[in-house]
Amino acid sequence: MALPPQLSAEERARALEIAKNSRQERAQVKGEIHRGVISLPQFLTLAEGNPVLAKMRVAELLESLPGYGKIRAQALMERFDISPTRRVQGLGRHQRAALLKEFQIPSTDPRGRLLVLSGPGGVGKSTVAKALREVPGFWVSISATTREPRFNEVPGFDYFFFTNEDFDQAVAEDQFLEWAEFAGNRYGTPRRAVEEALASGVNVLLEIEIAGAKQVREHSREAHLIFLEPPSWEELVSRLEGRGTDSPERRAARLALAQEELAAASFFDSVIINTEVSEVVEALIRLATS
Ligand code: 5GP
Repeated sequence: MALPPQLSAEERARALEIAKNSRQERAQVKGEIHRGVISLPQFLTLAEGNPVLAKMRVAELLESLPGYGKIRAQALMERFDISPTRRVQGLGRHQRAALLKEFQIPSTDPRGRLLVLSGPGGVGKSTVAKALREVPGFWVSISATTREPRFNEVPGFDYFFFTNEDFDQAVAEDQFLEWAEFAGNRYGTPRRAVEEALASGVNVLLEIEIAGAKQVREHSREAHLIFLEPPSWEELVSRLEGRGTDSPERRAARLALAQEELAAASFFDSVIINTEVSEVVEALIRLATS
């Protein structure tokens, strides 16, 4: 038998830390499921873009549902032919569909709201999107991109990193709700996850550049388009220039583009000035719930 890899003390500590954070995240979400804050369909949508949640056992998920315990969860798994050790990411298409049907919330207006957050590069869209990920009832779409991952990005969480061939195929199969080229790379919003989230009553945020937002407008009347503006041009310049993750050429290209992008605000349904992230998040929640 192959021996397990030898880890240094530092690697061990880091692995333990990651495992601890994952357990904490799963425990928190199970609590929210138990309190009825997150429904099962909402959880399945969240798990699509979150490897930590996707690794949860189906039994654990069902047992945390309000009014469910081990026995009811087990009976349901037997009914849908789900093995006791199955994890959420291993659910088959039919099992997933059966669970969604079983837990569909009957409501007169079950659809979530589709919010599209756009604006010049560097304005802080991704920081706002990250904060909104913590808000129950919201799901932030995970885009596909052909750009190389940055050192701090997690595949399947920040982006799905596609090869050019994969991206071509996804376009040919009409898998994207919208897609656009930005600074030499392609970015697209996977359609299915967005549709599923909206249909199960979850509000969805797309954090995308301006050409993509315009495409969403062409295909969907229900979308609310929001333009995020910097407090001032100087502020935007300093944010773009301070970005340690971009090369100098990329930063210069982004500045030139940002100047053009700022002119697009009038196309949008709302303009929000990004003075404070928490205020932008509150404004987005108001837009989705009004
Ligand atoms: P970055 O490479 O800095 O992560 O993103 C570059 C730009 O692409 C940002 O303005 C971001 O909002 C945009 N973007 C990210 N995902 C998508 C997407 O799915 N579609 C479109 N059209 N733009 C996206």
